[in-house]
Amino acid sequence: MDIIARGKYVITDASAGEDGIFTDGAAYFSEGKVVEVGDYDSLKKKYPQATVKGNGQQLLMPGLIDGHSHGRGLSIFQRGGPYDFVENALIDWAFLIEIDPELSAMMSAVRHLRSGCTTMHHNNFGNAGQAAKMQEIASKTIKSYHKVGIRCSYSPGVCNDDILILDDTHFFETLPPDLQEFCRPIVFYDKKAVVDEYMDLFDDLYGRYNDDNTRILFGPNLIEGITDDFHQRVKARADELGKIQIHIHALQSPPNKAYALKKYGKSWVAHLDDLGLLDENYTFGHMVFANESDIELLASKRASITHHASCNLSIRNGIAPVYYLHKAGVNVALGMDDKAINDDDDIIMELRVIHRLHRVSGFDIANTPALDAFDILKVGTINAARVCGFEGECGALKPGMKADAILVDLREMMEDPWMSPDINIAEVFIHRAKGVHVNTVIVGGEVVMEDRKFLNVDIDKLYEEVRKDIAKGISPQQREYAETLQRIKPYSQEWYKGWENMDYKPFYVMNSRK
Ligand SMILES: [Zn+2]
Repeated sequence: MDIIARGKYVITDASAGEDGIFTDGAAYFSEGKVVEVGDYDSLKKKYPQATVKGNGQQLLMPGLIDGHSHGRGLSIFQRGGPYDFVENALIDWAFLIEIDPELSAMMSAVRHLRSGCTTMHHNNFGNAGQAAKMQEIASKTIKSYHKVGIRCSYSPGVCNDDILILDDTHFFETLPPDLQEFCRPIVFYDKKAVVDEYMDLFDDLYGRYNDDNTRILFGPNLIEGITDDFHQRVKARADELGKIQIHIHALQSPPNKAYALKKYGKSWVAHLDDLGLLDENYTFGHMVFANESDIELLASKRASITHHASCNLSIRNGIAPVYYLHKAGVNVALGMDDKAINDDDDIIMELRVIHRLHRVSGFDIANTPALDAFDILKVGTINAARVCGFEGECGALKPGMKADAILVDLREMMEDPWMSPDINIAEVFIHRAKGVHVNTVIVGGEVVMEDRKFLNVDIDKLYEEVRKDIAKGISPQQREYAETLQRIKPYSQEWYKGWENMDYKPFYVMNSRK
């Protein structure tokens, strides 16, 4: 179906600033792509066969993009998991009820789409030695995203080092014999076999699902959980495939930062650079504890980061130095990490958190410009498209790009009871919009939500199935495993004592700077 999407205001491309905004405009979509953007009357005359979407009173803009999610259809909090230091949380989350992967992906797609997110990157947390299960979950998940209608990137992930805790072989010695027995298979195993299995799994998924509309990326989970040899093999294969993206959680917490200094005498970023790997196809999730030299290295190598503003606050990691990363030229992309500010994956609210969080203070009041609405929109559109493997294909309404767009109702923003016409619509959106204002969502030229009604999925039925699935609770085996981990928790908390003496200076006071 050919579509003309029309808006009272149109934002075409956040990187064009105010030049990318015009009024009474429209975009013509055909065969999944943007064909032309212009004034509504001309396009209507030129393409009379096209179906018109939008009432002419809305904001038409590119669909938003979540560069880092784990596709949790119900948040960790909804499933009873507490938010605490990540080192505590990862132990406590062993009690979480797992939802069927199809239902979880469908819910996650719905939660993203309803606030205007048209592309999401799902980074999977897999377990070493379970490639067949990871393959099955990936297939079900990707198919479910397609079914609901969201565009997705998918990165399978595992670790092959320090899975139990940072520096786990030494930690192991601190445990009593019965807990050592429990931990032995988690600490001692064939690390190379994990890599072999992962590389095969990746190639299988890439061959099956990587295409024009879906991207398969590398996602070895945690920078501290990957041996050098694993990094090297992933980077070599990613380059072979055309420098596809490699997505890794990095520098999320103080112990994480300290561990690199303990192990290598330098930061994770510097270590990767020493290995000759740091490059434009790396994206680091979190990057809260980057210091000045990390920021310079990331910028000079054209690496990206995903910024999980609310997650970093919830998990008590502080504030990533996004203002300075942006200033240095690092590609900063939005990532909700399933923990957005309202616990509902509202991507617009998350953009607002980023906008507010990085309004740094200072004395040089003439030369410290705040990030404006266009900077923030880039974080949630074109910058995020790059980390999802869709650079130059998604994130703007320009001819040739994918027809991913949203129509946003403006009444509450503009008529409550009045909004100055001197402020541009991008600023109004960043200051006043909410996910519920998104009226219509178009992905690849297909309408997937209109008047807030989903066209490909019965929401009532989906909710019913999710409630039924979650009622099963957790198995006795899972409970026993989680309870044993709780017995390990005091040893884990003791383990990190003294690590604060590692000689490192994080960027902000909130990030444990003293
Ligand atoms: Zn994450």
